[in-house]
Amino acid sequence: MPVREILQIGHPVLAARAEEVEFEDIRTPKVQAWIDDMIDTMRDANGAGIAANQIGIPYRIFVIEVADNPRYPYKPSIPLTIAINPSIEFLSDETFISNEGCLSVPQIRADVDRHVEIAVSYFDRNGEIASHEIRGYSACTWQHEYDHLDGILFPHRVTNLHSFCSWAVFQKYKQPAFAKTVRQLVDKWGA
Ligand code: ZN
Repeated sequence: MPVREILQIGHPVLAARAEEVEFEDIRTPKVQAWIDDMIDTMRDANGAGIAANQIGIPYRIFVIEVADNPRYPYKPSIPLTIAINPSIEFLSDETFISNEGCLSVPQIRADVDRHVEIAVSYFDRNGEIASHEIRGYSACTWQHEYDHLDGILFPHRVTNLHSFCSWAVFQKYKQPAFAKTVRQLVDKWGA
């Protein structure tokens, strides 16, 4: 299972809307190998998630996993989840200012408004339908990955242009305060 190259912002495959996976293709060796490559590439890069088009596969699949992540030490855990042809519905108007980075956007982070109560549904890697509600900080991760499938990267959603900063500056000056707001959100919603 090779670790793949991660495409960088501006690449045409990242900028395009990814296509639905045909249901009967989900269990084929080709699609299963794509999923394994996504998991390996995400873990190798310490990502919290990765979308298929980030490794050049123009289909609507993403994987998410957070477990003691050194890139995002304040993130609550999310078990390995594979989402194929996902949909997201916002359950309320409540939003959170999420400071985000991306494996396809080197060096830079910024603030993005994300909903904190969402309902998701998708096929898992076995072709089973999964539907659940997600509340709290983990909802931000889902929206970030979902955006990739529509060719949207976090910088496209930044409204406060002064929030752009380098990873090093974030870690030195902003991470403690941001981690505190994340903890408050996690305390409220449990995730
Ligand atoms: Zn990303």
